[in-house]
Amino acid sequence: RHLPYFCRGEVVKGFGRGSKELGIPTANFSEQVVESFPSDISTGIYYGWACVGNGDVHKMVLSIGWNPFYKNIKKSVETHIIHTFKDDFYGEILSIVIIGYIRSEKNFSSLEALISAIQEDIEEAKRQLDLPEHRKLKDDKFFHLPE
Ligand code: ADP
Ligand code: MG
Repeated sequence: RHLPYFCRGEVVKGFGRGSKELGIPTANFSEQVVESFPSDISTGIYYGWACVGNGDVHKMVLSIGWNPFYKNIKKSVETHIIHTFKDDFYGEILSIVIIGYIRSEKNFSSLEALISAIQEDIEEAKRQLDLPEHRKLKDDKFFHLPE
């Protein structure tokens, strides 16, 4: 209902859940950005496009979940960009468009199960984003940062 959803904000330190150690770093948005989200947007995994600063636009998967840091009363929004970056980009401006929903949040019985679910999410995101109606949002003027 809220999609596509365009959003831009600073990348902040997450809660070090070790996403990077899993090979799946997630760029966290600041609390302020998260609070600007529609409060009734469903938690779960989404796909869309993302761009750091005025860099290239890449495919992404995004999770909207409950933030353990705030006793799960606040949401967290974390973007995994499907691209290998040379360096971290904390403090930079991340622009995203959220296009579609993949699945709800789940609890996994093992780390292996979690990682393979995320790998499937990434494959699903890639397939969806190759569809012409989704691909066209990559060229949206939103990603050409105004000064
Ligand atoms: P944190 O708990 O601080 O969010 P993560 O392990 O989730 O730590 O790593 C996230 C950080 O990794 C991002 O803020 C960003 O600076 C960096 N990073 C490097 N490559 C990527 C990528 N492909 N997608 C998202 N973040 C990335
Ligand atoms: Mg993170």
